[in-house]
Amino acid sequence: MIHADLHLHTTYSDGTLTPAQLVRKCAEGGLRVIAVTDHDSTEGVAEAQQAALAFPGLRVIPGIELSTDVPGSEIHVLGYFIDLADAALQQTLESFRRGREERGLLMVERLAELGVAVSWERVRELSDGGAIGRPHIAQAMVEAGYVQYPKDAFDQYLGRNGLAYVERPKLSPADAVRILRDNGALPVMAHPTYSVSKTGMGEVESLADTLSALKSAGLVGMEVYYKDYTPDQVSRLKALADSLGLVPCGGSDYHASGNPDEPEPGDVGPPIESVQALDELHAGQKPPATDTGP
Ligand code: AMP
Ligand code: ZN
Ligand code: FE
Ligand code: FE
Repeated sequence: MIHADLHLHTTYSDGTLTPAQLVRKCAEGGLRVIAVTDHDSTEGVAEAQQAALAFPGLRVIPGIELSTDVPGSEIHVLGYFIDLADAALQQTLESFRRGREERGLLMVERLAELGVAVSWERVRELSDGGAIGRPHIAQAMVEAGYVQYPKDAFDQYLGRNGLAYVERPKLSPADAVRILRDNGALPVMAHPTYSVSKTGMGEVESLADTLSALKSAGLVGMEVYYKDYTPDQVSRLKALADSLGLVPCGGSDYHASGNPDEPEPGDVGPPIESVQALDELHAGQKPPATDTGP
């Protein structure tokens, strides 16, 4: 039984459940610890914590997900135990959200040039004042009948190699780690094999180098138990986390996206020992654990 899911999105970014709806779903599914990790926003955290008061067995860790640039790809960095009152961080996040808005408009314009007419107004409505992401554009394309599922929009148009892809300014991974550490948050690399090819030792070797460089900058963990990772991927990443002294984290990365086969909150997550390791690091009681596995 999985009790922790440390990667979840709400309507404050590209998830489609409100924080209260998400919290209810997680509580009813038997989860004990969740982290709300919206892209470039912590605005859903307070609402989630408020909603969780109705479910005393459920704890909500304030989190975030930041996207960063690496040549030809991107790395996402999660932050746990965010200090929400940090004005400097909030200003930085606002500037990222403005960058998302500008990029979203450019992508909608590019789609129009390609004969795919989605309304920018509708994309904004779908984002409901939250951080605008490509999934909002994908949803508008589903509604307009251009594709069946959001993921189909990514395959052809919105993915990195898609016809309507537009870059936006992003941090380097080390900068994201430093921004989070400056806030007092704990940085954790998200979905480590999302950004590189799915198999092969070369991948793990360069991943190991990247992870150990980021550990020097303050990274404390990496996702191991993630969404649709195979048992083989999980065991390779667990071994890597152990060898680097990184806390093995993870979660479903639930968005309520409308894609087929999307894992539900609590379908995948780290052992409770990983949450304890994060708690200890957050309390500053001891250096990174080397083995926190089940
Ligand atoms: P953005 O933050 O605007 O760059 O959009 C990235 C988000 O799009 C990710 O966090 C996922 O939620 C979603 N996403 C990325 N790739 C795909 C894909 N191939 N199919 C469906 N959703 C995707
Ligand atoms: Zn997302
Ligand atoms: Fe991500
Ligand atoms: Fe995510």
